[in-house]
Amino acid sequence: MDLEQADRDRLNRFLDTIRDRTGSFLGYPVSKDFDYKDLFEFFKYPLNNLGDPFTPSTWKVDTREFEREVISFMAGLFRAEDDNFWGYVTNGGSEGNLYGLYLARELYPKGVVYYSQDTHYSVSKNLHLLNMRHIMIRSLANGEMDYGDLLETLKIHRDKPAIIFANIGTTMTEAKDDLIKINAILQELVITEHYIHSDAALCGGLAPFIEPRAAFDLADGADSISVSGHKSFGSPIPCGILIAKKDNVARIARSIAYIGSLDTTITGSRNGLTPLFLWYTIKKLGMNGLKKRVMHSLDIAEYTEKRLIDAGINAWRNENAITVVFPQVPAGIREKWQLATADGKTHLICMPNVHKDQIDEFLYDINNSR
Ligand SMILES: *Cc1c(COP(=O)(O)O)cnc(C)c1O
Repeated sequence: MDLEQADRDRLNRFLDTIRDRTGSFLGYPVSKDFDYKDLFEFFKYPLNNLGDPFTPSTWKVDTREFEREVISFMAGLFRAEDDNFWGYVTNGGSEGNLYGLYLARELYPKGVVYYSQDTHYSVSKNLHLLNMRHIMIRSLANGEMDYGDLLETLKIHRDKPAIIFANIGTTMTEAKDDLIKINAILQELVITEHYIHSDAALCGGLAPFIEPRAAFDLADGADSISVSGHKSFGSPIPCGILIAKKDNVARIARSIAYIGSLDTTITGSRNGLTPLFLWYTIKKLGMNGLKKRVMHSLDIAEYTEKRLIDAGINAWRNENAITVVFPQVPAGIREKWQLATADGKTHLICMPNVHKDQIDEFLYDINNSR
């Protein structure tokens, strides 16, 4: 059996649409400069990484050996201790965030979660799912957590374990909460029972390559980190990476072994293709290639910010951010370039695939709109 010609034509037309739509977006943090043709043959097999990536399974049509290499590589980027990390390839940054919160809750069932106003919209749903007590902390104008408000709020709850959900690159302004400042506050208040999760959905693939290095990883005091794979690295299927401390996860694994399973991941069946995509990108680009992409993005972001300012637009960006923020632009331009807009602010994200000619074309539209 084959597809009918009409259906085939429809798919071809749809392919053109998707090609156009992909070509013209500048507003979402998704890389489009990937090419996984070499992996095409793997589409013929029912790959599934069900279960823990580090535990052998009777099911063997999997890519878990590649998944483990991806985890080791990311653990290295996030300065985990050599023999105390664990992780898996998730369906995206949100799942890794859910996992971090889940781990924190298992370690500190009476803990309170502190997270800033600028936190990703999926987090309040996760807190609801996990039924965790939570308090929202004010944000500063740049999107970073207001450390003064954190201090005052923690002071009132010194008797409860603190679970800090830190943003390493907020969705709208790419602001990074500073783990050194957060740890200093926890120390000052002598809150010894604490857990810090870093939501590094976008910046997990950027920050390790930028100097001065942002304080966000395991060596800076994070207990777990979530990063999206389809953002900084690029993938045709959404994916992500979760890194946590092995000894913390062992406590969870044990409690589930009690009911007869070593089920350490959120879902049962897991994508077997996405670990291959990530592995391929890491191998193909290497540390130097990955760094070069980040430096390119920073250059383009600087260029974009400057061009907008030259055009009389009040553009700005956080230190070493690839996200340029400016007052809301006309609907036609937001529509054409798929620019996310919230609270009167529009942002443009200079992913590695964005080049000067695209920015020039965007500025041409901006200048023409006035
Ligand atoms: C994109 C993003 C998420 C969600 O990640 P997904 O990979 O889309 O699930 C979470 N937090 C922040 C800050 C993000 O930018």
